[in-house]
Amino acid sequence: MQVTEPVHKGAKVVVIGTGMVGATFAYTAVMKGLISELVLIDVDHQRAEGEAMDLNHCLPFASPMKIYAGDYSDCVGAHIIVITAGAPQKPGQTRLELAQTNTKIMQDIIQRVIHYNSDTILLVATNPVDVLTHAAIEFSGFSPRRVIGSGTVLDTARLRYLIAEQMGLDPRSVHAYVIGEHGDSELVVWSSANIAGMRLQDFCPVCRSYYNGPVLETIFENVKNAAYEIIKRKKATYYGIAMGLHRIVESILLDQGSVWTVSTLINDYYGIDGVCLGLPAVIDSTGISKILRIPLSEEEAQLLAASAAIVKEVTLGALGRQPKQDGVVRDYVLDTRAD
Ligand code: NAD
Repeated sequence: MQVTEPVHKGAKVVVIGTGMVGATFAYTAVMKGLISELVLIDVDHQRAEGEAMDLNHCLPFASPMKIYAGDYSDCVGAHIIVITAGAPQKPGQTRLELAQTNTKIMQDIIQRVIHYNSDTILLVATNPVDVLTHAAIEFSGFSPRRVIGSGTVLDTARLRYLIAEQMGLDPRSVHAYVIGEHGDSELVVWSSANIAGMRLQDFCPVCRSYYNGPVLETIFENVKNAAYEIIKRKKATYYGIAMGLHRIVESILLDQGSVWTVSTLINDYYGIDGVCLGLPAVIDSTGISKILRIPLSEEEAQLLAASAAIVKEVTLGALGRQPKQDGVVRDYVLDTRAD
């Protein structure tokens, strides 16, 4: 990997959408002290102002930095723009409608951003994140390497945590990935999940934990249902994604070459083309420097293709390219939960 000067000295980051996710990301950034200038933008400017005021009171306990509520002209010179703005799903609203609503919001945001900054890296967390990452690539005209979706970063974190809990390990020592749609059609790459290079079934006798199909199935169900369970209890999830977004930002600013399962536009990936999906990719100061073609079993490749088909159909619909089929609105399976 090319070693470049880390850009974090004087790094400027803009957060667009200062709701639960955006504000928690901002708080994480203040705690970590990597950023020098943090701009908060929200359609509800007062909310952004309130968050900036509150966050500034962390500074005596953290590192010096500039935090303020701004407008789009403050995107000038930003190294990274984190987009967490979006409308939540309303009762009676279809998932496709939510994708369309948030795609319109994304279009508006991107048009304003590129007026002031066309060299930045965009980091998208708004759901449905794979669809909106694709939309951000289209509306910005940026190289897909500079438009990163949070993809299955959070799902992968949940998986690693749950496997670690089952096996009595540190989650950082678990190497396993969730790929595909950030939502119901995602899949776990069990075929290469490992601990210190040992396959899970080989590791289990060592840690005396129980490994079998039903245990894995339960872990996967708990990964997929984590957001529903959290939202049922506290209306939204934001700590995990905020940390995940910050690790991606850190990987960029420090040119770390870290592997994260980000959402990225793929071509000829196990025969899949022209759709954004969560896949392991190398993140450095250029953005996405490599998408990793990981080994998949035949069944995993089929599940990935099925996930891609679902995301592609919704993406085309959200971008206004869905051919009308007998006027029937299909029951899209793409999950657009606020997770
Ligand atoms: P929230 O409702 O608390 O915040 C959304 C914010 O966006 C609000 O402050 C709102 O005023 C702002 N907003 C709306 N339209 C805007 C516009 N045009 N310009 C600027 N700001 C605008 O929601 P949240 O809980 O913070 O979630 C934000 C998004 O992140 C949602 O789409 C949610 O589904 C998604 N999310 C993604 C992940 C992930 O893993 N990718 C995880 C959690 C949440």
